[in-house]
Amino acid sequence: MRPKIAVIRGDGVGPEVIDATLSVLERVVDAEFVEVRAGRAYFNETGLPMEEDGMDKLRGSDALLKGPIATPTKGRSYPSVNLRIRREFDLYANIRPFRSYEGISLRRMDLVMVRENVEGLYSGEEELQGDVAVTKRVITRSGARRIAEFAFRLAEKEGRARVTAIHKKNVLKVSDGLFLEEFYRVASKHPSVEADDYIVDAAAYRLVKVDYPFDVMLLPNLYGDILSDVAAGVVGSLGLCGSAQIGDDYAAFEPIHGTAEDIAGRGIANPLGTILAASMMLEWLGSKYGHEIVDVGRRMREAVDRTVEDGVLTPDLGGDATTSEVAEAVLERM
Ligand code: ATP
Repeated sequence: MRPKIAVIRGDGVGPEVIDATLSVLERVVDAEFVEVRAGRAYFNETGLPMEEDGMDKLRGSDALLKGPIATPTKGRSYPSVNLRIRREFDLYANIRPFRSYEGISLRRMDLVMVRENVEGLYSGEEELQGDVAVTKRVITRSGARRIAEFAFRLAEKEGRARVTAIHKKNVLKVSDGLFLEEFYRVASKHPSVEADDYIVDAAAYRLVKVDYPFDVMLLPNLYGDILSDVAAGVVGSLGLCGSAQIGDDYAAFEPIHGTAEDIAGRGIANPLGTILAASMMLEWLGSKYGHEIVDVGRRMREAVDRTVEDGVLTPDLGGDATTSEVAEAVLERM
């Protein structure tokens, strides 16, 4: 039995970083890769945001590896493919690990952000009432509870000491109040893990300025979106960070960066964030396919570390290596 992995190459630098990652994956795991075409390029060609049987292909796979997909804000528009996948599979937990690299990162960092991925200000509930635009920020008790539960279980599994809930309860008393209430209720069931909380603006400052040992950070959707880019800046590049969107039965893995149009097509995008996302995918597949695949994921992550330490770097990290040279270096080190 071998895993079936759906692949959306995406837009902008997406195809470059995905192809580089596949050039590593195909050599180290025995898996079937199924391409699903979706995004701007596919829309321009066909008028559809995704192949008609795209969702069926995803449903028939174990996990999705994807590049960033553009959602146009002007001109001919189409519904967000990301949102559709997130809702269809209820991928409620967005996991983003951040580890610093000596000589590259602004400061030492080793933390995991657990971002609530389907509620908050991204509820999609928006309307124009005359001259007043209203967006609903929805936080449900069940949503707050399951993401808190996820964060504590992750801390226990990874041997991390503390979960810090990030909020703005001083202003958003009702919604962030409920988020925090559920957080502490769940925390009481996990006595081996410390629990504390931090106001979001102070947390942003601390991430950059103070060597505060955040360990697992639990964040409502918008705060997670913003603070993860801050953390990526501290690590050294958006191109150096991977992520997982996890639901109860399915998960999607991707770099945290967007389509990076400014460097697309030049062969210089950093593939390491996507390779790290792939290593998270192998780890996640372990529950179904056994420890060997987890081990390959771990070796892949270690090979990324050594590639960076050895100075094989794309221009975003001050080097002059190409996307494929970096992928080749990771493979060599595995
Ligand atoms: P989106 O709205 O889709 O998130 P964005 O333009 O806000 O996109 P990114 O596409 O992530 O953000 O790009 C932000 C900056 O980071 C750009 O200057 C881009 O070149 C750089 N960047 C992003 N990804 C990479 C990568 N893999 N390698 C090198 N630089 C990158």
